[in-house]
Amino acid sequence: MIKDQVAVITGASSGIGYATALAIAKAGAKVAIGARRSEKLEHLKKEIEKIGGECISVSCDVTKRSDCENLVNAAIKKWNKIDILVNNAGLMPLSFVKNLKIDEWEQMIDVNIKGVMYCTSAAIPHMIKQNSGHIVNISSIAGRVVFPAGSVYCATKFAVWAFSEGLRQELSVRNNIRVTTIEPGIVDTELTNTITDKSLESFVKHSKTIQSLKAEDIANSIIFALQSPPHMNVNEITIRPTTQE
Ligand code: NDP
Repeated sequence: MIKDQVAVITGASSGIGYATALAIAKAGAKVAIGARRSEKLEHLKKEIEKIGGECISVSCDVTKRSDCENLVNAAIKKWNKIDILVNNAGLMPLSFVKNLKIDEWEQMIDVNIKGVMYCTSAAIPHMIKQNSGHIVNISSIAGRVVFPAGSVYCATKFAVWAFSEGLRQELSVRNNIRVTTIEPGIVDTELTNTITDKSLESFVKHSKTIQSLKAEDIANSIIFALQSPPHMNVNEITIRPTTQE
């Protein structure tokens, strides 16, 4: 049970992060939420407080190491511990490699990989000291299979999987820190908004015809992993919409 635990969630201003922060708060944990769009975080904070939850919101760009440290430190300062870290912030400007959208490749590497590493590095000294913790990393189906126009995005999500598995091997056995990787298929969120490659317009249109998962479906799977008894480490959860190939 996660009642009275302290959770830090990145990318909580929309989609999966928003739904997850709300679900964790509903389960009775205190939440520190981070993202760049502070007004959206404030909206979530109010929603959490309306149901009697405790929440702090912190402006956080995960590409900045100091922002990641501030987010974790804000939770520590307020509640003196961190039990859960959900590394959710991510973006997906898919493009064909030949179109050389190199700035977008760098953005994905900075947010999807380095952001996860920065927040993790800020959290684990506290978790090691506590001898307990749970890190949930949001990878993707794209961390299991590669598809055209997904080379760089998939590379970042494979990296999240590898980093998570390394964390598990190092931290679960020795330091009682559980590590879970979540691999969603298509979820109805704002994620495709960053795609600028015009040749992908029909792909984006097609993906919207599939009955996608809801952000709450992913939040529920995260709650399942978090609420599992302490001796049980749910390593990976892969969830596709039923009609996704
Ligand atoms: P959204 O676009 O709705 O949410 C992305 C979140 O990431 C936003 O809250 C955004 O906040 C945050 N974010 C982006 N860049 C940064 C940054 N530099 N610093 C801090 N936060 C940032 O999409 P989803 O909810 O779908 O995405 C959440 C995660 O789920 C991502 O890691 C994504 O790769 C993964 N995923 C999504 C799938 C889908 O089909 N939707 C499928 C598989 C995985 P802000 O802009 O306010 O900073």
